[in-house]
Amino acid sequence: MPRLVMKFGGTSVANIERIRNVARHVKREVDAGYHVAVVVSAMSGKTNELVSWCRDAAPLYDTREYDVVVASGEQVTSGLLAVVLRNMGVPARSWQGWQIPILTDGAHSAARIQEIDGSNLADGFAKGEVAVISGFQGVHRETGRITTLGRGGSDTSAVAVAAAIGAERCDIYTDVDGVYTTDPRVVPQARRLPKVAFEEMLEMASLGAKVLQVRSVELAMVHRVRTFVRSSFEAPDAPQTDANGNPPGTLICDEEEIVEQQTVTGIAFSRDETQITIRRVADKPGVAASVFGPLTDGSINVDMIVQNISEDGRHTDITFTVPSADYERAMDVLGRLKEKIGYARVEGETNVAKVSVIGIGMRSHAGVAAQCFRSLAENGINIRAITTSEIKISVLIDAERVDEAVRALHVVYGLAG
Ligand code: ADP
Ligand code: ASP
Ligand code: MG
Repeated sequence: MPRLVMKFGGTSVANIERIRNVARHVKREVDAGYHVAVVVSAMSGKTNELVSWCRDAAPLYDTREYDVVVASGEQVTSGLLAVVLRNMGVPARSWQGWQIPILTDGAHSAARIQEIDGSNLADGFAKGEVAVISGFQGVHRETGRITTLGRGGSDTSAVAVAAAIGAERCDIYTDVDGVYTTDPRVVPQARRLPKVAFEEMLEMASLGAKVLQVRSVELAMVHRVRTFVRSSFEAPDAPQTDANGNPPGTLICDEEEIVEQQTVTGIAFSRDETQITIRRVADKPGVAASVFGPLTDGSINVDMIVQNISEDGRHTDITFTVPSADYERAMDVLGRLKEKIGYARVEGETNVAKVSVIGIGMRSHAGVAAQCFRSLAENGINIRAITTSEIKISVLIDAERVDEAVRALHVVYGLAG
């Protein structure tokens, strides 16, 4: 029998009524002849609450114990869904990460899956049982301690399980019916994309579109898992289908499968950014290494970097961005290196955001960047920093102008439906 992975996010399991709705989606696929592994998130808001309890308990909490606490949200929903399924006459059992096991490295709170042994799940399928798996969690292969995969990690659990059991598809059910040209909460005119290439989705996710966790897209790309993003709010017993029998949603797939390739596919944004400027550092070989080496050693994720031209031939300014979570640590590292690097002062700005334009079609089309800069200029939005790659352009702007910038760019690239 073919195998299917179905993943349900926090809003889809927010209360018992919604869990019943999820169970009906699962029953539909079981009745259609699939062996199903369901991956569930914690009820919406639960993980935030658990995280805040850890912070209240101790600001510098031990991440191994943090994982024990935050992994508990998913344990509750996996048990509840198994109870509801059984009550509907669908044989099912819950699986925690350590029971399968989903083996990870030891990077507590942001662990990476190393291996999943699918044989326990296969035994369950042989008995006709639906596997209800707690997303977001695993177990450190050396110490046996519980780990979690970083926020949004249930997407990654789902894709990894799909690869491990050779599933025909991994369906990611969420509160939107697919991947849109941009976040539909910010731009109501955003259009649903029928297909998105792995590479584009990787950029969209890493540049802020939280509909899929970045790592899940990486795994889908490496293991060629057909991943379909769709809504859990569709009629569970008989979802609406198109002429080809497919329900509304977005397939994340190989570039070759996409016939009509637009120049720009989508716009992503992230408010989770901060900007740091080092004034008057010596303009000589080795200075960038002396700044960015220690930041990397401190596991600080540096993103955009701008080095200005020196006015006097001896000094220059270096500007770069780090995620908000790394800001304090980055300022601390630089403060301690003042003597060694030799600079006048460090300035920080936390009220910034990054807006990115993404599209594989950019590889073969010139002028996309110029269009972006012109549009922002016409709207009086100042650009603080720019980075580009083959398939994306990112600009750093003031945080309060983000929605406006996203809407303007959405119009400029003709993305509205
Ligand atoms: P879940 O709890 O199901 O994992 P998330 O909240 O993590 O759901 O992700 C879904 C949300 O992602 C949507 O509600 C939407 O606001 C947001 N989002 C951001 N960018 C996009 C996009 N380009 N397409 C669709 N949704 C997006
Ligand atoms: N519950 C976890 C979170 O909120 C994992 C997930 O929902 O994907 O981050
Ligand atoms: Mg999510």
